[in-house]
Order: sequence, then structure tokens, then C-alpha cells
Amino acid sequence: MNKKNILLIGSGGREHAIAWKLAQSPLLNQLFIAPGNAGTSLVGKNVPVNGNDFESVKKFVIDQKINLIVVGPEEPLVRGIHDYFLNDELLKNIPVLGPQKAGAELEGSKDFAKQFMIRHGIPTGAYQTFTRETLADGIAFLKTLTAPYVLKADGLAAGKGVIICKTLHEAEDELSDMLNNQKFGKASERVVIEEFLDGVELSAFAITNGTEYLVLPEAKDYKRIGEGDSGPNTGGMGSISPVPFAGNEFMQKVEDRVIRPTVEGLQKDGIPYQGFLFFGLMNVKGDPFVIEYNVRLGDPETESILPRIKTDLLEIFLATVEGRLSEINSEIDEHTAACVMIVSGGYPGDYTSGKKISGLDSVTKSMVFHAGTSSQSDEIVTAGGRVIAVTTLAHDLKTAVATSLESAKLIKFEGSYFRTDIGKDLM
Ligand code: AMP
Repeated sequence: MNKKNILLIGSGGREHAIAWKLAQSPLLNQLFIAPGNAGTSLVGKNVPVNGNDFESVKKFVIDQKINLIVVGPEEPLVRGIHDYFLNDELLKNIPVLGPQKAGAELEGSKDFAKQFMIRHGIPTGAYQTFTRETLADGIAFLKTLTAPYVLKADGLAAGKGVIICKTLHEAEDELSDMLNNQKFGKASERVVIEEFLDGVELSAFAITNGTEYLVLPEAKDYKRIGEGDSGPNTGGMGSISPVPFAGNEFMQKVEDRVIRPTVEGLQKDGIPYQGFLFFGLMNVKGDPFVIEYNVRLGDPETESILPRIKTDLLEIFLATVEGRLSEINSEIDEHTAACVMIVSGGYPGDYTSGKKISGLDSVTKSMVFHAGTSSQSDEIVTAGGRVIAVTTLAHDLKTAVATSLESAKLIKFEGSYFRTDIGKDLM
């Protein structure tokens, strides 16, 4: 068997979960993570390479005879890491898991994503896009809608570019702030105004080679910092999978109306696509609507969905880049996964890093995925807002959440905080 050397780009909980799963594969030779965190160094080798610096990625890939690049976060994809590989004589035969720039536009531009959905009949809210020059039209459009109003910066805004306004007045002010004052920099040179969809959110995932696709387990994440989903938005405070309200009938609608039309739409548009598709969905009275696409896995959804995938993840990745995804017999664990994220005090506002983390080894009933951590001498310290994700697989949601909470309590650092109500709305 020809074992593979893999380079995984990224440094969060998502990458620790991917690395942990890849490390279980008999097809793996060496796993490198660029730059990784204290957790990824337990299952692979961290390397000080910046995923947005394609020259240094190239040097590393050639030096270490890498056979596959797996891109965790969106930024290198939107910046064109895959295209860079394809355009380089020495790199063009080394597969990259993650779309080229054209496909990454599904995440890189909300306007592109909306046009794509409309063109291919994929259910989504009505919308229009405006620029500084058409601000007056934007205000006129807002007046045709009813509250609440959804404003989205077109480009990547580190997950902060969506604003939901309760009043028309507030929406008008926000729109002009985004367009005239570039509230989100270049990302808000264009703003999508979208119909508000009233429903329950969830995330669906697939991996595709552009023609075939494999549906992965769905998840629900908990975005706000406070109990009862209150307070400011975060990168994600926890997740669960499967999602109780997304039964077979609903997930079949998701596949028929969203996943398959997306893959076929990419083909019709001549956009090659090799990598993950992440569908941010709203369940509106039993029907799925797309509120956003992402071109990578989500964090902390990954920490709930990967533990449920029994099939060898590296085998799935290789089948994707080798165009033989239909050969894969995916096996999904029926157990429920619940992930609780432990964060730094003050997050998502200001927080201090470098706090010593203790108790990691006392966790026996859950999986521990590092998000923002680093190693300092022989200690593990905090190195970000979201610090540790704790995931448990159990027969039911209640037990999975209770066990993750029990484990989270064992992990200590100054100022640590986690939500205790993950999944409670669905019990
Ligand atoms: P996004 O960055 O696109 O995930 O949007 C952030 C959040 O805004 C989503 O998780 C939803 O809660 C909310 N949102 C986005 N679009 C809509 C919409 N059309 N209707 C209602 N809520 C939305």
C-alpha cells in the first residue's frame, strides 16, 4: 500500500478534529499541520508554515514529498491556493482538497452565492445587491420589505458581516455605514439585502469532486456567547449532531433541493469543485432554504460530525481527489455527538491569552479537541478566544450533553467559560 504524506492547513478545533481522524487511517504515512496547535501536535507534526503564504507552502510540500493538501479554513481557498498549485509545474500533480478560487466564491462573495442559487433554482430568500452608487435604491428596496431586515457584507468579514436590524431606521443607517463608511472594509463595498427567513437553523455538509458527492452528517451549532442563545455572536459555542428536527424526510429535501442542485449547478457553470460544501440552512416550516454557503467544514460542527463518521476519512479524501467518490460506502454512527466549547473570559470581546490549562488528562468520557492552544515549555496554554472543544458520543442527546459538561468542568484555566445549555432547546 502506498501510504500518504498529508499537509493539513489550519490551527483550530476543526483542524484538530480532522487531524485526529486522519491519524487513525492505515493509509497515512506522515501528517503535518501548518501551523496547528498544541492538540494537533499530539496526532501529527506541527510545522511553522503560514497557509496564506503559498511560496512557503510550496517549499514545504516539495521538501517533505507531500501527496495531498487538505485546506481547513476558507481564507487560503478564497485567495487561490488551489489555483496556485495547478499553475505551478512542480505542484500541479499534487491534489488539493478544497475548491479553486472560482468555486470558493460561493463563500467569498454573498452576491455570487445568491446569483448562483437563483440561477439554479436553489431555495433561498429574495434579495438585491447594492453599492455606494446605488445606496438610494437600497434604501428604497428596504422600504419594500418588512422587519426584521437582513444586511450582508458581500465579502469575507471574519464571520461578522451579517447584521439583522429590527427597525427600518436602523437598517437604513447600517446600510449607509456599510457602503459609505466601509464598515467592513472592502468586504462591504457591496451589500446584499435579503428577505428575513423565519425558522430553525442547521448546517448540512457534503464532500464532492464536482460530479459525485457524499452527504455527511448534519449539525446544529450555537453561535451566541450566552445561555439561551443570548448576547453577541461568537465563532460557535457548541454543536450537536444529528439534529432531531432534521429527520429523513427533511434531509432528503436538503439533498434533492439543495445539495444535488448545487453540485449540478457548479458543473453547468463550468466551475470545477473538489472539497467540502457547507450549507447554512433555515428550516422554514419543514422546507430547507439556504442562508449561506461555506467552502470548508464548520467549527465547531466538525467536532460533532467527524466523530460520527466511521469510514476512514483519508480514504474519503483520496476517493474525492481521485474522482472515485461513488466507491465509498460511508458508515455513520447512530449515536448523538454533543460538543461544548470552552472559551477565554471576555471572548468574543477582549481576552488575555497565555493562561495555563490544567485537567486535560482527567477527561476520560469525552474527546478533547484543541482550538486556541499552544505549548510553552512543557505546559499547554490558551492562545485564542475559543480554547478547547469537548465532544461526547452517547445514545441520546441528553447524555451526550451532560457528559460533555462533566468533562468540560474538569478542564481549568483562569477565566474559562462555557455554555451549559447546548442542545437543551432540542431535548
Ligand atoms: P451567515 O454569516 O450568513 O451565517 O449569517 C449569520 C447569521 O445571520 C445566520 O446564522 C442566521 O442566524 C442569520 N441570517 C442570515 N441570513 C438570514 C436570513 N435571510 N433570515 C434570517 N436570518 C438570517
